[in-house]
Amino acid sequence: MEIERHEYDVVVIGAGGAGLRAAIETRQAGLRTAVVCKSLFGKAHTVMAEGGIAASMGNVNSRDDWQVHFRDTMRGGKFLNNWRMAELHAREAPQRVWELETYGALFDRTPDGRISQRNFGGHEYPRLAHVGDRTGLELIRTLQQKIVSLQQEDHAEFGDYEARIKVFQECTVTELLKDGSAVSGAFGYWRESGRFVLFDAPAVILATGGIGKSFKVTSNSWEYTGDGHALALRAGASLINMEFVQFHPTGMVWPPSVKGILVTESVRGDGGVLRNSEGRRFMFDYIPEVFKDNYADSEAEADRWYDDPDNNRRPPELLPRDEVARAINNEVKEGRGSQHGGVFLDVATRLPAETITKRLPSMHHQFKELADVDITAESMEVGPTCHYVMGGVEVEPDTAASRVPGLFAAGEVAGGMHGSNRLGGNSLSDLLVFGRRAGAGAAGYVQGLTGRPSIGESDVDAAARRAADPFNPADGKSENPYALHSELQQAMNDLVGIIRRGEEMRQALDRLRDLVARAEHLEVEGNRQFNPGWHLAIDLRNMLLVSECVARAALLRTESRGGHTRDDHPAMEAGWRRKLLVCRQAGDGVEVTEQPQVPMRQDLLELFKLEELRKYYTEEELADVQAKEL
Ligand code: FAD
Repeated sequence: MEIERHEYDVVVIGAGGAGLRAAIETRQAGLRTAVVCKSLFGKAHTVMAEGGIAASMGNVNSRDDWQVHFRDTMRGGKFLNNWRMAELHAREAPQRVWELETYGALFDRTPDGRISQRNFGGHEYPRLAHVGDRTGLELIRTLQQKIVSLQQEDHAEFGDYEARIKVFQECTVTELLKDGSAVSGAFGYWRESGRFVLFDAPAVILATGGIGKSFKVTSNSWEYTGDGHALALRAGASLINMEFVQFHPTGMVWPPSVKGILVTESVRGDGGVLRNSEGRRFMFDYIPEVFKDNYADSEAEADRWYDDPDNNRRPPELLPRDEVARAINNEVKEGRGSQHGGVFLDVATRLPAETITKRLPSMHHQFKELADVDITAESMEVGPTCHYVMGGVEVEPDTAASRVPGLFAAGEVAGGMHGSNRLGGNSLSDLLVFGRRAGAGAAGYVQGLTGRPSIGESDVDAAARRAADPFNPADGKSENPYALHSELQQAMNDLVGIIRRGEEMRQALDRLRDLVARAEHLEVEGNRQFNPGWHLAIDLRNMLLVSECVARAALLRTESRGGHTRDDHPAMEAGWRRKLLVCRQAGDGVEVTEQPQVPMRQDLLELFKLEELRKYYTEEELADVQAKEL
């Protein structure tokens, strides 16, 4: 079969913040780089990010520094984070934001002209650099602008804009190819023509984002089908933390035209509050013991905090996301929810209309246009929506290298950085910090190779056959991809959702097994030219594999921590903090094993007070810290 072929030094799969930052780095190292993305260039998920990018620049409160950010991140993740990633992230995030300014980013300013920073859940000080509530758009715009300027340099040097960096948009990668144990390229298809395409490259950087489309109610858009997670698994890499899925507390639950769509946390950061059907600010009833010292216990103190954060504790509406999502879930369960199964988010009575439209322009515009809800005049009905996956490819923190030589991962597709729960704003900074590191890691790897791995023709034929399978179902049976997708979403929502039980997750695994068997008989009509049914059939294979990882790991973790809440094991257990659950492909399915967590470096551990560590660690683990404090 004649297949379009391209040769590069590095292929970056994904053109969100992580992919673009990685590509800039490999290109700056002089490597020929392809950026492949299944959506339009500029329409990555990153563009939807609203609230801001977390970096301890200390512009609004000079007490902020990387150590405070590190502490907040570890607390948010309930100490399950890969501490080295959290350290690199906290140390390097300010440099990445300033660097973005050199690429042309125009952040909102403080009155004295510095980059403004706003409050967000779990962050001790105002820390999120932002551009209104359109920060992701600015991030993508400036990274793209940087790529264009690099292409102009290449034109000046080689007479060809695309000599060292080329974007392949609306092109979906379906398989990674290997030579022995090492990566040798990637196989995919053009969404419009359906024609196959092959990238021959010794290094691949996965930057494909998340998995939200496996769940029924989600803030994620169509591209988030866990492709990178599945590609990595099938190539022999491991995934960690897959049981931790973040349900953002405030997705719209009504009207149906905006169901699942996110209401940014900035609404609460800027003064919005949550009320139940009795009009009560219920979050005061849900401050967990571990956070009691840092959150206000009265409305008066909480309201004073907005103007005087140094002498008051923060409002409980700004607890980490997992806590707020569970609290909303509980209010609804106990009959104090709104008519449509949510609670009320009220910013209208808290801020003047002109402040709302100035600080939250997209929120105001979007809900007015799409749902005729005017957030300056009425409350929003909100509830948890599947938003982000903490789990992802297990990587080496400094280089973003996976276990497979030549395969790197950064951004939401990588695991470890956020532990069991991500703080808002920490994703955009993660993309830049680890996008850059993945680019540098891949460049170092390629430059150190003595020979170029090759692509086996039989592997290419197999990838092409596999992709075309839905046009030639195995026997007379026929399954519809849309029907199967909807069954998968319902099962994940109902059985592996925000509150989990052992029995239900076992049922989920049975359903998944059934869906995997039926997926062998997926059938699509028509031909390969722009055929969304076929695209979904291909994506479904990935969603099923990744959903199995989530369900299996969630069943094994018999505790509640961060984005993983078990009704049958409601407590957080110190023993589990020392264990990671690692997913690998085994046959057609997934095998999950326990792996010990690497103990935190002593100097980092000493950034915490002993009494705080006692909430998460065993006495035996704390022996050295105790000795120092005595
Ligand atoms: P993405 O930006 O999703 O990019 C993924 C790329 O991979 C896309 O280009 C896609 O086309 C491509 N791709 C996927 N699969 C394939 C394939 N098989 N072949 C080829 N290409 C493929 N985080 C914050 O820190 N602050 C915020 O304020 C914030 N707000 C958010 C608001 C919303 C509504 C949402 C949904 C998320 C928000 N987040 C926020 C989270 C954050 O935006 C994401 O985690 C982050 O943008 C992910 O970036 P990424 O580079 O990893 O992937």
